[in-house]
Amino acid sequence: MNTSTYIPESFLADVKSYIPEHLTIEDFVKACQSPLRRSVRVNTLKMSVEEFKQYCHTNDWLIDAVPWCDNGFWLTRPEAEEEKLPIGNTELHLSGCIYVQEASSMLPPMALAEALEDSQVVLDMAAAPGSKTSQLAAMMDNQGVLIANELSSSRVKVLAANMKRMGVANCALSHFNGSIFGDYMFECFDSILLDAPCSGEGTVRKDADALKNWSLQSNIDISDVQKQLIRSAFFALKPGGTLVYSTCTLTPVENQAVCSYLLEQFKGLIEIEPLDKLFDGAEKATTDQGYLHVWPQIFDSEGFFIARFKKTGSVDNPEQKIKKGAFPFTATDVKLQNTFHCYIKKHFGIKTLSGNLMTRDKELWLFPDALEQLQNKIKYARLGIQIGTTHKNGVRLEHEFATALGHHATDNTLAMSQQQACDYFQGKDIRLAQPTTKTGEVILTLCGAPVGLGKWQKNKVKNSLPRDLVSNAQLITWV
Ligand code: SAM
Repeated sequence: MNTSTYIPESFLADVKSYIPEHLTIEDFVKACQSPLRRSVRVNTLKMSVEEFKQYCHTNDWLIDAVPWCDNGFWLTRPEAEEEKLPIGNTELHLSGCIYVQEASSMLPPMALAEALEDSQVVLDMAAAPGSKTSQLAAMMDNQGVLIANELSSSRVKVLAANMKRMGVANCALSHFNGSIFGDYMFECFDSILLDAPCSGEGTVRKDADALKNWSLQSNIDISDVQKQLIRSAFFALKPGGTLVYSTCTLTPVENQAVCSYLLEQFKGLIEIEPLDKLFDGAEKATTDQGYLHVWPQIFDSEGFFIARFKKTGSVDNPEQKIKKGAFPFTATDVKLQNTFHCYIKKHFGIKTLSGNLMTRDKELWLFPDALEQLQNKIKYARLGIQIGTTHKNGVRLEHEFATALGHHATDNTLAMSQQQACDYFQGKDIRLAQPTTKTGEVILTLCGAPVGLGKWQKNKVKNSLPRDLVSNAQLITWV
């Protein structure tokens, strides 16, 4: 019980005015003051759920399935390990096999699951730090194209780093106020997630000070931003497309009222898709309108709100705009494409890569196929993945080639031991048990997942980990 959790009286008075009849304010306060169970999501781009379960069994990690997400688990590690090694320094985390994600935050992407089966072009309008972007990318199996947008520049960097760690290859990152999408990308998307900026009332279990600056006025102010964003999302969505709106807050001002605004503004063109059957037990959190209003005491989680809509008709957006300025990439010339494909086939056994090879100065990038129709609509912060840099004798591979595509390699890979992996992430060269006659680049793996590149050198592998990823912390082992 965390009795230092700050819960202002004015907030409680407001909650009392809208808490549903079947829940009590006492249980709500008790839940807000209880520690949150840690949950993780298995990144199926890197590891299967079966492999994860086996790993947990071998390492005495206790897991409990999250009922609404096949890849989500509440996780308890042995006490000594938990004390000495933060989860972010474990091998499963460093290798991108897991993402620490609150269980209720897995719900919004799950609400898009059916729609994603037929979606080529998807927008995550407020994406950083990227828990849901990486969940969406895994659900899309790295196919199609996922545009992940974030307003804050420092958070775009975190988003990019997370996508690299998770091996996401179908993403384009942008750095705008989400309100521009309706104007610049009118009816471009099959599915949209708007996980909106909000007052975060549902997050007090993680952050005891989350309600420090709470006021009804600030709820109202944020709801103005949310309305702008949901309006933009409506215009950016194709007719027939699906929109999921979510927040980690509880107040109807930022939830039901924003949804009502959407339904009123676009009467007859958008309808609610109820979420009461999303998973067994969903009805416990479903409102009369068909939204999920997840109170922390219902599933012992953070508070969340999720609404799903289908766009049933079209209306013109008179504010549509066209981006000016040249596109800085060109299709990679055929000779370089052939050289590159021959190299990765001969050296790593990688026979095909889906996507388009594109060049900007000396950089070689791989764009998702479906990006072509969208690549000049807005200016992107990052498009696809940078897989190499050209030089006079060919192409030098980049770190992301390994993290996103390394699982296709059948040759010149090295499964690192825990000690070797510690050395690798600490920026040291990796000693080999036996000298090797192999030469050139090698893809390094950990827990079966590709994590980076090195160079064979007789008794060792020379480390190619980018400097900004080097860590001097206690990693992987703790004894
Ligand atoms: N979807 C993220 C995830 O699952 O990791 C969490 C998103 S968080 C709830 C909302 C994000 O929206 C914040 O990163 C915030 O910086 C960003 N944001 C705030 N105002 C925005 C705007 N007008 N347009 C786009 N993003 C915005």
